[in-house]
Amino acid sequence: MNSAGGEIGLVDMHCHVDLYPSPETVVAEAEAARVWTVAVTNAPSVFFHTRELCRRRSFFQAAVGLHPELVVSHGGELETMWPSLDETQFVGEIGLDYVTSDKEVRRKQQDVFGRILERCAEHGNKVLTVHSRRASADVIAMVGNRFSGTVILHWFSGPLKDLRNAAQSGMYFSVNPAMARSQSGQRLVAEMPRDRVLTETDGPFVKAGSRPARPPDVAGVVDWLATSWKVAPDEARQVIAANLKRAIAAGPGS
Ligand code: MN
Repeated sequence: MNSAGGEIGLVDMHCHVDLYPSPETVVAEAEAARVWTVAVTNAPSVFFHTRELCRRRSFFQAAVGLHPELVVSHGGELETMWPSLDETQFVGEIGLDYVTSDKEVRRKQQDVFGRILERCAEHGNKVLTVHSRRASADVIAMVGNRFSGTVILHWFSGPLKDLRNAAQSGMYFSVNPAMARSQSGQRLVAEMPRDRVLTETDGPFVKAGSRPARPPDVAGVVDWLATSWKVAPDEARQVIAANLKRAIAAGPGS
């Protein structure tokens, strides 16, 4: 695992590095810009490729995951995820997505997410980057308030009540350029406790201008946070870096 040293400039807590046309270029650019990046994956079978991309890099962490929208096509890979949990502290993308109204699919998502949570709880110090579209109440309920790792709600878009419950349970939130642009996102970010806010791109899905966002684009999110917090950009950066250190240091008993 690559350590979060004192030299962290920026943080991209959720980037699908493997889904760019040229992942190596994205990784090299982010390394040069010193962007501490979690490279999430959507299925256990692609973790190995992303792990190779992140090997011997200073700022890249490979995460193993199973995206809720892929549980029907890739749910059979779930068992192959467990050995990878011995290799990385980072888990994602996982969670629930209730855009589907199919009860059977939702049940399958809950089963997969529940089993991943159980395994992570056994390890104790995992850092989870979690999808919760239209499902934040169930995600928060399933995690509970005694989970032994760190849960980061990525692109949180749920009701305020859920945001407050999540914060009360110790969860973090990673904020991306699309959230900073939208009024609903801005309203939610204003309610997030400052010591629980992290940044992300969710690239290549989220855009920066007219192109897919890449890790250095979190700089724009930091600038926006600084304005909304009424602090200097440097101070906002320091807040995010301090939040990251706390989030990844959390373990049993801490
Ligand atoms: Mn994502």
